[in-house]
Amino acid sequence: MYVGRFAPSPSGPLHIGSLVAALASYLDARAARGKWLVRIEDLDTPRVAAHADQLILSQLAALGMHWDEPPWYQSQRSAAYQAAFDQLSAQARIYPCGCSRREIADAVISEHGRLPDGERPYRGTCRTGLPKGKAAKSWRFVVKNDTTSFIDRWCGLQHQCVATQVGDFILRRSDGIWAYQLAVVVDDAAQGITHIVRGQDLLSSTARQHQLAHALGLIPPSVMHVPLVFDERGLKLSKQNGAQALQTAQPLQTLKQAWAYLQLGELQASDLEGFWSGATERWAQRYSLG
Ligand code: GLU
Repeated sequence: MYVGRFAPSPSGPLHIGSLVAALASYLDARAARGKWLVRIEDLDTPRVAAHADQLILSQLAALGMHWDEPPWYQSQRSAAYQAAFDQLSAQARIYPCGCSRREIADAVISEHGRLPDGERPYRGTCRTGLPKGKAAKSWRFVVKNDTTSFIDRWCGLQHQCVATQVGDFILRRSDGIWAYQLAVVVDDAAQGITHIVRGQDLLSSTARQHQLAHALGLIPPSVMHVPLVFDERGLKLSKQNGAQALQTAQPLQTLKQAWAYLQLGELQASDLEGFWSGATERWAQRYSLG
């Protein structure tokens, strides 16, 4: 049985970029005659916008995207994250880290002479114990020093050595906020998710999630990372970059706009029903799970 999900962070209403990911995951679930769930990822409390969850749900409903079970809220799942954290602690896979962002950046600069773009690998400074006089700023996961390989249904075969490219990563911050990486693995397993379809910005998180899943005795879901939408400056559309809230007054037009990013050709549809049946069929032809 196929179980897919859309997992928006409620930092604001959906924009065209988040709709592309939602649409792809919805079509994949419908094409497989599976279930489609929505999970509100409201862990990063400073970034949660009031009522954004309701806004997102009403945008999805207005577009004719219906979830099959009541949405989960990560803010209500602390006990499950704590249990996973304890399980990893019992395997000695967690340690407190006293490093600030600045200190981590400085360590990378002294090693490479500059700060590379994107990921800043953590070099395991606190792995052998907190330096004297330092308090824990976070708790990190001890990663395995091997290459993680997986097949992405959109991007193909992927390899990442988490140890060298990312390093031991954060599971919990000292303010108590659970990290996305831990929560997503715990919840995907708890909800029985079999297939993840999401934006390509999360492709580089997949190997981390595989390592966590394996340490917790879980089977990672299959993944598909669909293209992102960029603005005219070449930045990924996001709330922080000032992306426009999605208009749902003309749902067909909005869906067709998102469809265009999925590179499946023109779709003739004069109403929502026609869009959904045509789009699901086209998706099934191209990405059939057999
Ligand atoms: N909440 C994440 C985001 O909005 C998506 C998580 C996921 O799909 O794994 O970017």
